[in-house]
Amino acid sequence: MILMKMNLLLSLLLLASTLYSSLAKGAFQSLLPSEDFSDRSNVSRARRLLEDSESQARTSVDLTRGYMSNSDLERNIKEFGERCSNISRIYSIGKSVNGVPLWVIEISDKPGEQETEPAFKYIGNVHGDEPVGRELLIILANWLCDNYLKDPLATLIVENVHLHLLPSMNPDGYTLRKRGNANNIDLNRDFPDQFYFANDDEESRQPETRAIMNWLRDIRFTASATLHGGALVANYPWDGTHDKRTFYYGCPDDEAFRFMASIYSHSHYNMSLSKEFIDGITNGAAWYPLYGGMQDWNYIHAGCFELTLEISDNKWPKASELPMLWKYNKMSMLNLVASLVKTGVHGRIYSSGDGRALPGFITVSGINYTVKARKTFGDYHRLLGPRDRYEVVATMPGYKSKNTSIWLDEGAMTLDFVLDPEVSVKLKGGILENVHDCNCDSKSKLEFVQFLWGSHLEVFFVFIVILGFLCLLFQRRKKVKISTSKQSTGAKRTVVV
Ligand SMILES: [Zn+2]
Repeated sequence: MILMKMNLLLSLLLLASTLYSSLAKGAFQSLLPSEDFSDRSNVSRARRLLEDSESQARTSVDLTRGYMSNSDLERNIKEFGERCSNISRIYSIGKSVNGVPLWVIEISDKPGEQETEPAFKYIGNVHGDEPVGRELLIILANWLCDNYLKDPLATLIVENVHLHLLPSMNPDGYTLRKRGNANNIDLNRDFPDQFYFANDDEESRQPETRAIMNWLRDIRFTASATLHGGALVANYPWDGTHDKRTFYYGCPDDEAFRFMASIYSHSHYNMSLSKEFIDGITNGAAWYPLYGGMQDWNYIHAGCFELTLEISDNKWPKASELPMLWKYNKMSMLNLVASLVKTGVHGRIYSSGDGRALPGFITVSGINYTVKARKTFGDYHRLLGPRDRYEVVATMPGYKSKNTSIWLDEGAMTLDFVLDPEVSVKLKGGILENVHDCNCDSKSKLEFVQFLWGSHLEVFFVFIVILGFLCLLFQRRKKVKISTSKQSTGAKRTVVV
């Protein structure tokens, strides 16, 4: 009975926390863009995605006018760190070939602290000659700082997400106005690939690539996006195909990725109106296969759902167009980050034994992908598109797995798991590994043994205490009975037992 009550109490607490989270998240504003754009004359423009901008480099003096140099960028980042120190942390993840620090701005109400919140990263300027992203990320950081506690979306992001911004992954390429880095290597072809093994040699990898890979070993990002130029589309995995042909090649989370990409394109001024890409989104391999890209590596090796965003038809537009490009991409950039708390399934995994957090695994039936819960808090963040039914399974070595069916609309859901440890019980003549897996006849007896030794040690302790108390009570009653019988002939006494 005590066990049942404790379980009931625990369930009620979990239910209350779930309801609270759902209500809080339900109160968040809609994912749809709040700005209405009236002029959409810029819908279709020529794409110059893969060409190196050497022709543009000839007029580089004009091009760089109004853009930040690398030292301007560093100064801006540091000034931001001082001005918005309450919600930010500035750090470097390494250096470029020519020794330029790769500065990152982390934005959160508790920057640098580990929380049960998802982390998102934006990376700009992967290609040296695509500088719009690095400019927009600085504007984004300042907008969040200026609007925190004033604008609900800014507040939601600062308080519920750890947002990391790397404005320039390729500062050397930017200075050289080239696509590749100082060694003329395309950094978006330099990652280990599932089909193309030439990049598997760690020693030959570029310092910028290594910096990103180490960064992702350090921080568990739930999702991210890189900002490119030369087209207008939200691109999602896979980027490559096993036979190098061009065709739609979806990853296990194709549905979730299409949902994510659509959030970006539909929040954008005109991306979803694209004549070239239905809905303004595309599968990478269906567009053109590439190998050694960052987004596939993120999904396979870092548990991070990454998009590749082409945010301006013109790779290097005049600086005077930057305010307009910010206006076009602003809601997309904000809504994509906010989607980490407004969509998907989130929660924690606990042990029923001692209530500690478990770094378990979350899988969804029918999707061949595993999301890991983090060690410290046992929290997990599983992005999923809206669907009528998902069966979510939590596992952890040494514990019995649990599964549950959920219905997911466009909102998020909080789902905590309390896992029972597996039991090894020594019986006559051998060891019984798992009581529940046994088809023995004396099931009730085994369940009682499991009750004693298994999941609720603290309850077992309480049971022993109660037993001791009852023994004492019995002995005392016995004594009272004896003394009462002795005094039965004398004066009447009231005995309270
Ligand atoms: Zn690019």
